[in-house]
Amino acid sequence: MICIFCAIVARDAESSIVYEDDAVLAFMDIRPITRGHLLVIPKRHAEGLAELDPADGGAMYRAARTIGAALRTTSDVDGINLLQADGADAGQEVFHAHLHVIPRRRGDGIGLSGASPTMPPRAVLDDAAAAVRALL
Ligand code: AMP
Ligand code: ZN
Repeated sequence: MICIFCAIVARDAESSIVYEDDAVLAFMDIRPITRGHLLVIPKRHAEGLAELDPADGGAMYRAARTIGAALRTTSDVDGINLLQADGADAGQEVFHAHLHVIPRRRGDGIGLSGASPTMPPRAVLDDAAAAVRALL
């Protein structure tokens, strides 16, 4: 199956490019969550976190940081969210890794819900940390 983001990298599909270097391409999202919402992708295809070359991941973050910090210098943008969805159950729809750069404006009402209203006991957090450490 043709990957739409690989097609954009190859210039076989249209996009509105913001930034490009050897490793990454940044372009406007066609269904923006907020005005100015854009995506940073590795040029080399990788489906998600497990397949992503760490250097490409670093290049994605470097570009997202540069673009996000530049947007913050404008009076139009009050904040930035960086977001990567990994897996369909996390909301991933395009299976070529990408980092969303989402400009935020005061009172825009966008938000991830679901944070626990109470803090778990430290022992629960310690157990959770140990479980993740065991995977590394
Ligand atoms: P995700 O849910 O994290 O996989 O996000 C995929 C994003 O890619 C969505 O925000 C889409 O609007 C965006 N998208 C899909 N196709 C294109 C395209 N051809 N050009 C730009 N953005 C796209
Ligand atoms: Zn691809």
